[in-house]
Amino acid sequence: MQKIRMTTPLVEMDGDEMTRIIWRMIKDELLYPFVDLKTEYYDLGLPEREKTKDKVTFDSANATLKYGVAVKCATITPNKQRVEEYNLSEMWKSPNGTIRAILDGTVFRAPIIIDSIKPVVRNWKKPITIARHAYGDVYKCTEYRVPTSGVATLSFKGNDGTEFSKTIYDFECAGVLQGMYNKDSSIESFAHSCFKFAIDTKQDLWFATKDTISKQYDQTFKLIFEAIYNEHYKAEFDRLGITYFYTLIDDAVARVIRSEGGYIWACKNYDGDVMSDMVSTAFGSLAMMTSVLVSPDGKYEYEAAHGTVTRHYYRHLKGEETSTNPMATIFAWSGALRKRGELDGIEELCEFANNLEGACIGALNDGIMTKDLAGLVDEGVKVTAVNTAGFIAAVKERLEKIYN
Ligand code: NAP
Ligand code: MG
Repeated sequence: MQKIRMTTPLVEMDGDEMTRIIWRMIKDELLYPFVDLKTEYYDLGLPEREKTKDKVTFDSANATLKYGVAVKCATITPNKQRVEEYNLSEMWKSPNGTIRAILDGTVFRAPIIIDSIKPVVRNWKKPITIARHAYGDVYKCTEYRVPTSGVATLSFKGNDGTEFSKTIYDFECAGVLQGMYNKDSSIESFAHSCFKFAIDTKQDLWFATKDTISKQYDQTFKLIFEAIYNEHYKAEFDRLGITYFYTLIDDAVARVIRSEGGYIWACKNYDGDVMSDMVSTAFGSLAMMTSVLVSPDGKYEYEAAHGTVTRHYYRHLKGEETSTNPMATIFAWSGALRKRGELDGIEELCEFANNLEGACIGALNDGIMTKDLAGLVDEGVKVTAVNTAGFIAAVKERLEKIYN
């Protein structure tokens, strides 16, 4: 066959451990044979981050700003144990945090669903995508224990001389105290990313906060979303027949459980942290969770939601066989290739991305799956449990039927 041509390179961010091994297998078996793959390669594996003093991470994020679409392998976020294991000169920051800060993006997570694995919530038929505002609030708070009785105040000193101060509580005993913040600019970026992604994926957008209780803080989120929607996106939403819907977070929870899915649920930082774990667990498996970072000006970075699967990697190093699920990593590639195809007007590339995903779903529907999924499927479904290479071979076989 004639390989599918690309015109603009994808920004390729390689990673660590088991997912680095899977990365190589996906490229060799599922991409190179079919696509004249163009990438600008950045090695975000921990040894290279150490060697470049983390410059490679910054370079890869800047390349994403330049080209617009990146695909990322899972990477180690160093902790104390990793500093020893990799003999690091510094505890390098989370690459995802660095990239997110440079792209000023929002992370969207959506499950890949298949017929034979039923969500715990029976009426969910379509994926629910969670958009989490990953900035500020309780994650950047200042807090302490109040040791004795006394007055706590919240004060602000403006650079223009504005000043105010309010009593939070007149403590009659010991207690706790917390101050947190967010910025209009960050909430605005969050809103733009959410509306853009809804248009991109032609799905309704839900947003929920607790503005009845938090009359300034959460109210600000609500008002900023509303203003940006009306000014920039309402016409396009109307044209596509999709809706923007605001409700209280507790009402949203009830509606989500009763819904059949198929929309984006935008959440404040803490709500998104909690709800994304709830939604992904209810859909089945972390190994089936896709993730894309979208910047407010429409730059995309695709990845799997899971990490480097360290436990499997250590077993792999000991020569033991592992069965790591490559689905979310394959879908990171297909998502990035499809987006590149859309931006460059290369229909065959979009079609290839769809076929690659179709081949994966096809293999799963035929019962060929890695061990993590084998335990989740409905009773009565005939399962052939395979290792990673076995699964990738089954996908390749299905792709070859289309392209040969
Ligand atoms: P993890 O890599 O997501 O793995 C946690 C467990 O989930 C695995 O041990 C495995 O369970 C299961 N699992 C995850 N992905 C799987 C897959 N594709 N196939 C089969 N099972 C899968 O999380 P972690 O062990 O907490 O973190 C490992 C490293 O990844 C850390 O260094 C962390 O910093 C990094 N991390 C990176 C990212 C990222 O780059 N986006 C995200 C999260 C974590 P069993 O062992 O029970 O089979
Ligand atoms: Mg969490």
